[in-house]
Amino acid sequence: MEGWPENKRDIPTCALPYFDLRDSLIVVDGILVKGKAVVIPSELRSTIKRRLHCSYLGRDSMLRRARGVVFWPGMASDIKQLADSSEICQEMKPRNVPQPLKQHKKGVNHDRKLVSTYLRLKESTT
Ligand SMILES: [Zn+2]
Repeated sequence: MEGWPENKRDIPTCALPYFDLRDSLIVVDGILVKGKAVVIPSELRSTIKRRLHCSYLGRDSMLRRARGVVFWPGMASDIKQLADSSEICQEMKPRNVPQPLKQHKKGVNHDRKLVSTYLRLKESTT
């Protein structure tokens, strides 16, 4: 299938969340892209979230890193949920008192790792 149907009724359920974004989505080398962000299919989101969570503390820092690199509908609320369920992220919520530097575990990660993780996963599933 190429292009979007005129009518929202003709769209497969799985594509519905993307309908309102259709003008900002393009396909590059078979990968769906929104702006500069790779659109992550639902089956890979938990891996990307895990990766984000290992590398960045707290909702804001995870969101900052994710935005412009990866995207899926509802990403911000998914990440908020993740941070809300994490004890360490909760401790990192903004306060008036400066907090000591903390991390989930040792290791340096970069945002590009998210994309390479995605690409590796995508390769292994196609
Ligand atoms: Zn956390």
